[in-house]
Amino acid sequence: MRARLALTVLALAAIPALAAAQAPVRAITKITGELYRFQNNGHYSVFLVTPAGVIATDPIDKDAAGWLKAEIATRFKVPVKYVIYSHGHADHDSGGEVFADTATFVGHEVAKAMMVSDQVPGPPPQETFKDTKTVSLGGASVELTYLGPNHADGMIVMRFPKERTLFAVDIVPIDSLAYRDFPNANINGWIGSLRAIEKIDFDTLAPGHGPMATRDHARRHREYLEDLQAQVTAQVKAGKSLADTKAAVDLTKYKAWGGYDGSRDLNIDGMFRMMGGK
Ligand SMILES: [Zn+2]
Repeated sequence: MRARLALTVLALAAIPALAAAQAPVRAITKITGELYRFQNNGHYSVFLVTPAGVIATDPIDKDAAGWLKAEIATRFKVPVKYVIYSHGHADHDSGGEVFADTATFVGHEVAKAMMVSDQVPGPPPQETFKDTKTVSLGGASVELTYLGPNHADGMIVMRFPKERTLFAVDIVPIDSLAYRDFPNANINGWIGSLRAIEKIDFDTLAPGHGPMATRDHARRHREYLEDLQAQVTAQVKAGKSLADTKAAVDLTKYKAWGGYDGSRDLNIDGMFRMMGGK
């Protein structure tokens, strides 16, 4: 028992040291034309290169943004003229100050309020909007659409019409369960947002996490949320406890999805709470 405890303590102590020793995984890959994907470990954003400069999206964090800025200067020799935030969460939107010498910051008005109130490190949006906005530069453009509250409020999706690509962050887990217990989520808004994405004209989905995807991944995640919601709602309406609900809900058809083992119970916890379970 004592030996096992000592081993556990040793293993736990080793985790931060290992993490610190590991270099971040960063990459730039072409999506199509002049549209590129930027990776920083498990986080991704996209950027569009035009003759007049770059339209960048989530800077992710200060170190990642510094690396990206240097790579863009070396490879493309144009400045970053816009930084567009997907939503107000610090793990995607930190570090924009790196681009403040050349860029205008754009985001939804609610994302701006969240960045200010949550003290996200980086410049809040200077240009905000309510429903839709098009950002144009050097003969290229990106269309920004607010879909209402979902994973968070202030979330937008970005359509690159010429590239037929949609950049969507945190609302389309790619063949994965939802994140933990749906913190701060609006579930009906989320399902509605996925339905709206399914109607947007694009071929390629560039998510904020996970591999490149398609419109069909939005449908699959919407159907998962609807399935989970329907099963949990039936239990809540029957007055069942959380433990009974967890025993009754059958999600085995998603067993091959990412996060199944770690998030199945948490997804049910969150849905039970959102459906008013007691
Ligand atoms: Zn988020």
